[in-house]
Amino acid sequence: MPVDWVVIGLDNGGTMNNGTVLDSGGQFLLERMAEVPSNVREGPDKAIQCLVDSVEQVLGLTSVPMTSVRAIGLDSPGPATADGVISSKGATNFGDAGWRGFDIRGALAERLGLPVIYNNDGNAAALYAHHVRFGKEAGRHSSVSAIVGTGLGGGLIEAGRVIKGAAGMAGELGHVPIPMDGLLGPAQPMPGCNCGQRGDAESVASLTGIQNNLLPYWLTRYEGHELSKLPAGQAAKLVRRYGEEGDELAMAIFTQQAITLGRLFTIAANFFDPSVYFLGGGVVEAASHFRDWFLAEVRANTVLREEQARAAQISLVPDLDMAGARGSAIAAFDWFISQYHVI
Ligand SMILES: [Zn+2]
Repeated sequence: MPVDWVVIGLDNGGTMNNGTVLDSGGQFLLERMAEVPSNVREGPDKAIQCLVDSVEQVLGLTSVPMTSVRAIGLDSPGPATADGVISSKGATNFGDAGWRGFDIRGALAERLGLPVIYNNDGNAAALYAHHVRFGKEAGRHSSVSAIVGTGLGGGLIEAGRVIKGAAGMAGELGHVPIPMDGLLGPAQPMPGCNCGQRGDAESVASLTGIQNNLLPYWLTRYEGHELSKLPAGQAAKLVRRYGEEGDELAMAIFTQQAITLGRLFTIAANFFDPSVYFLGGGVVEAASHFRDWFLAEVRANTVLREEQARAAQISLVPDLDMAGARGSAIAAFDWFISQYHVI
């Protein structure tokens, strides 16, 4: 059966773009990642062309003509405004000076002559997790997603929609200050974050937090540990594997991360009271015994009222590789039907 219309979802990453196609019946037409290089380091001109290449790639793979596309969903790492203007102070993924204050959403819309709906990557992944869990009931539920990667991303979904906030900065979970009482070890320095704060969620629950704060401290408690012989960046990435093997230093680090995430969800419970607390990122891809232990630790440190505990669940974000592109496509789909009432 020929499709009548589709939307496309594009996930703009530091090295690759991942694309997908969502049809008018709400079905994804691609089961796997469809990737092209993103070339973001070479500046906006090349990168916008690569996003166009990604559109052409997914249309080619699905044999859908460009004339059937009604909207494009786009995500990228932040910080960016709700409308997709990259921070004027620059952003980790957008080092080229041409990116500062650049309107990535507007530039792609102009290039393609199509509406482009922008979300940051954490919000897009949160939207996807929400839709996978609730399907057609998505509009009746709320969720919070915390995704542990290089930083701590995520987002808030209410009634099936991303909460963006006045400046596009709602759901910046990584920079919520977390009480550190009873969390830090003896003489452990207050962890610092790239945002300038000390003791926020990302300063502990992120790969950067491991590298800059947790590992340097715990190596002083486990002198002669194998990880002390490696460069900090390389050692930080290996901590998860040590955790899977039950290494004490690694378990101390992941315990601190789990407490932090539990405390973050406790704040979310009081602020937002969602139906589901999603946890995603590297730890979800870890060996199942370790993943289950970590999730149980997060649960044990999430303080919910009795009524909330009955109504809510804490669970894992599925298919993270494709979550950005698929969440972006869902955002474009929802936008299109809200504009034209086509369903
Ligand atoms: Zn921060």
